[in-house]
This record gives sequence, structure tokens and C-alpha cells, in this order.
Amino acid sequence: MSAALIELAGIERVFHLGDSEVHALRCLDVSIAAGEYVAVMGPSGSGKSTLLNLLGLLDRPDAGTYRLEGRDVTTLSAEEQARVRSERIGFVFQSFHLVPRLTAAENVALPMILAGIAPTQRAARVAQTLRDYGLEDRAGHRPDQLSGGQRQRVAIARATIMQPAVILADEPTGNLDRATGEEVMRLLEKLNGQGVTLIVVTHDVALGARARRQLLMEDGALQHDTVARREGVGDPCALPT
Ligand code: ADP
Ligand code: MG
Repeated sequence: MSAALIELAGIERVFHLGDSEVHALRCLDVSIAAGEYVAVMGPSGSGKSTLLNLLGLLDRPDAGTYRLEGRDVTTLSAEEQARVRSERIGFVFQSFHLVPRLTAAENVALPMILAGIAPTQRAARVAQTLRDYGLEDRAGHRPDQLSGGQRQRVAIARATIMQPAVILADEPTGNLDRATGEEVMRLLEKLNGQGVTLIVVTHDVALGARARRQLLMEDGALQHDTVARREGVGDPCALPT
């Protein structure tokens, strides 16, 4: 078995829009070890979100393989993928993606409900997690009653309550002011310090520079990787570019 947490080989993703095709990811080979802190950078439309969605099992590639913790996850059923997602992956989005009608506590509890964890155990963990993120006095508030920073802290609490192996964050500070964005990045980096693999999409150069490794996307291809890996070199591309 490989030591890599994430192994992408020959990944292709093509979107069809009427008669036109968008080659959103092409010939992607990336290997990420457990505990890494990686920034995915590049201009708008370069494929960053498409890559993150694939890593988060929210989307499937058209070609290539994705191994997570040594297991090929591309061939799993939707149900099996949902289980892997719920147990191993935490997502943080630019626009928070909280459920508007639910309170902060209920939003944080959602992944545990999906995982079938008993209500009493759930309540204790939610209370502890809200305390960990300084949200204990906001437990009963709905998202529209929270500030942007508080919403993102609720989203991070929700993303981490199942203790995932990897956190995928897509422009997590994109809707926050500088000081609040800094606070959110420190929370994510603290989790990485505790061993969680952190993959952050950003087009902010200063933010990307904080990661120990940068992947630069351009037109769907990996244009530069600050950690060049030599293993597995061959002809991985399924389609000509
Ligand atoms: P980024 O996050 O780097 O801005 P995306 O991954 O969102 O880029 O998009 C990469 C390319 O794929 C863009 O040209 C975008 O328009 C296209 N794309 C992304 N998602 C879809 C989709 N669901 N259907 C059609 N085209 C898409
Ligand atoms: Mg994007």
C-alpha cells in the first residue's frame, strides 16, 4: 500500500455544454501525503474548484484514478462515496453553505446525524465543538443571525466534527474581511498542526504562500508543483492535450 493519502493519476474532467466542451481538468497527476498543507492556486476558471470537488467525491472524473488512503474511490457506488465523504473528508466553502433554517448547533450536528451517531453522544460533541470554536453563546442562532466569521467557524466546526483525515477549503476567506479571514486561516492551520491534511484553494498569493506546498493550475492542467515528485513517471494521460 502507498503512503500517500491522496493519489491522482491521469485525471481528466470534461464538461459538455451544448456543442462545446470544457476540458476542466487534464492529465492530472498529484500525490499528497497525510498531514500536508497544500495551496491550490491559479486564475479563475483554471480548474481549482473542479479539482477540489473531485477530491471531495462531489464529482467523478471522466478518466483516471483517485486513490484515497490507498483505496480506489472512483469506482465506489454513490452510497459508498457518501460514507467515505462523511467519515474522512471535511469541506469548507467560500459561501459557508450552512443550512439557513437550522441553528448553529443543528448545522454542526448534521454530519453526525448522517453518520447515524446517537442523539446523546451527538449533543455532547456538538456542545464541546461549539466551545472549541468560541460559539457556545451562538448555538441557537441561525446563519442569518451570525457574522461572516461566525458562519465560517460554524462551517469549520461542521467540517471537523467527524474528525476527517482531510479538509478541503475552497476560497474559505473569499467572503470575509482581512482580519476575519486571518482568524479563519489560523483555525484551519491549527487543525493542520494537529495532523489533519489541509488543501486550500485560493487565488490570493499571500494566502497561498502560507502553505508548505503550492499547486499552480492553468487551463485545467497542473502548471507547477513546488514539491516535484518523480515516482510513477510514465505516460499517464488518457487523452491528448
Ligand atoms: P476555478 O475554480 O479555478 O475558477 P472551475 O474548476 O470552477 O475553476 O472551472 C473550470 C472550468 O470548468 C471553467 O471553464 C468552468 O466554466 C468549467 N466548469 C466548471 N464546472 C462546470 C459545470 N458543472 N458545467 C460546465 N462547465 C463547468
Ligand atoms: Mg473556484
